[in-house]
Amino acid sequence: MDDAKRAVEAAKWDLPWGADADHLKTPNDIAPFVEAGYTFFTIDPSEHVDNSADMDSLGTLKQKVVGLNWDELSALYLIQDGNQAWGDFDTESLMRATVKYGRAIQHAVTMFKHVSELTDSFDFEVSVDETDSPTTPLEHFFIANEMMRLDVRFTSLAPRFIGRFEKGVDYIGDLNALDTEFEKHSAVTTHFGTYKMSLHSGSDKFSVYPLVAKHWGPRIHVKTAGTSYLEALRVIAKHEPDLFLKIYLLGCECYEMDKRTYHVSAQLNLLPGTDDLPSLLNDFHAREVLHVTFGSALERFGMELRAALAKHETAYYEGLRTHFQEHLWLLQEQK
Ligand SMILES: [Zn+2]
Repeated sequence: MDDAKRAVEAAKWDLPWGADADHLKTPNDIAPFVEAGYTFFTIDPSEHVDNSADMDSLGTLKQKVVGLNWDELSALYLIQDGNQAWGDFDTESLMRATVKYGRAIQHAVTMFKHVSELTDSFDFEVSVDETDSPTTPLEHFFIANEMMRLDVRFTSLAPRFIGRFEKGVDYIGDLNALDTEFEKHSAVTTHFGTYKMSLHSGSDKFSVYPLVAKHWGPRIHVKTAGTSYLEALRVIAKHEPDLFLKIYLLGCECYEMDKRTYHVSAQLNLLPGTDDLPSLLNDFHAREVLHVTFGSALERFGMELRAALAKHETAYYEGLRTHFQEHLWLLQEQK
């Protein structure tokens, strides 16, 4: 936060800005971020999502809904009018949604109350993007409707979409299927009209942005992470090849260990050779390896990297500008 403040001042930025406390999991996580000046709180109730609910037998589901306000929920949601783009609940699908997300919604309520006790003016996002199974449009409706009913005022919601959103690389999956799915999710957000759709691991999803723009226009929150780091490495690969090679080889060494908390699928045996270093930044496997090993690289070569970027500052800023412009351009609604 201090670094960000310094950067904002150095850039003489005089428009509003804010910082997002991302993926907070427990009430105790919140206070230090409020104190540091964060105004956006993304809470991640994924530990309370029951991923096995998609596969559980009806008998198991019946046992699991005990204690989750089943009578109230069935009275509220088992009205099948067949009019909604996101579909209707029957007993079984409502049981699955309740078991899958019921406790996560309760946790979101707890977290919202806790933030409210600590600060008045803030944005609140609920994200289930890092769960195992995709959030169906019907489940999205359920989560949003329940949170509103329970007085959680949220700015944005991050479902887990179909296909794979991995770090630092484009979308992996069927774009036509994603388009159809987005259509239904956007029907839900339009129905409520109060919150934004949030896209996590949103950097470098160039094939997805036009679809996002088509369905949500400006009512979208895109989270990009690590992409500035990879752009920095692009500069280093070109201008300081020795340093880059050290970072890359360390990355290969640390990948298996460092990737454990990430959703990535790069494989070391599919990495290209090292005769053209800058081109590694365009390779799927090399990008993911470099991305998830940034911590190890900064620990070992942080000072060297910093000095090298200072030396090639103009090239770095130009690279960043181009990369962000590419994102923003594709995220604009094409009229
Ligand atoms: Zn996320």
